[in-house]
Amino acid sequence: MVDIAGANLPQGEFFDVICESQHCLPDAVQILTQCTVGNRWLKIVDTSRYALTFYNKYTGDGIRVYLDAKKLQEWPAIRAWFLKEIPKKDQESQQILDEFRRAGTSIYSTAKTTVKPSYITSPGKKRSSIGLCPSCGEAYRTDLGETCPVCQGKSPYL
Ligand SMILES: [Zn+2]
Repeated sequence: MVDIAGANLPQGEFFDVICESQHCLPDAVQILTQCTVGNRWLKIVDTSRYALTFYNKYTGDGIRVYLDAKKLQEWPAIRAWFLKEIPKKDQESQQILDEFRRAGTSIYSTAKTTVKPSYITSPGKKRSSIGLCPSCGEAYRTDLGETCPVCQGKSPYL
């Protein structure tokens, strides 16, 4: 999917990536490109669809690459895995891998797309300021509220 995106994008521009799945795909992007969750060039927008979008980080224009269910007729093992047609314990992982290798890029489709402005980097954009939370005393981004998100009740902890 990364190869397809690379082949369809202009050279010499800077791209960010949106990954539509939390599972597996983000790791592939992080291994094969310089875009990571940590540097924020990779954003996970969990639609649960098996798709990646590479887009120009300043204009938002890009290409979406997705696993196309319509192209899986010839690939029964991939199809069964992708659509969870049979229980995982009954799937043959070797057969799935073999089909993936033989199918190559033929099972994906692409579409030109433009991302919403909130995903675009504006060159002059000011970084948000950091302050100390008056409630817990830890540093946090002050654009998130009067206190840090945890003190607003959004703690992940029991
Ligand atoms: Zn706090």
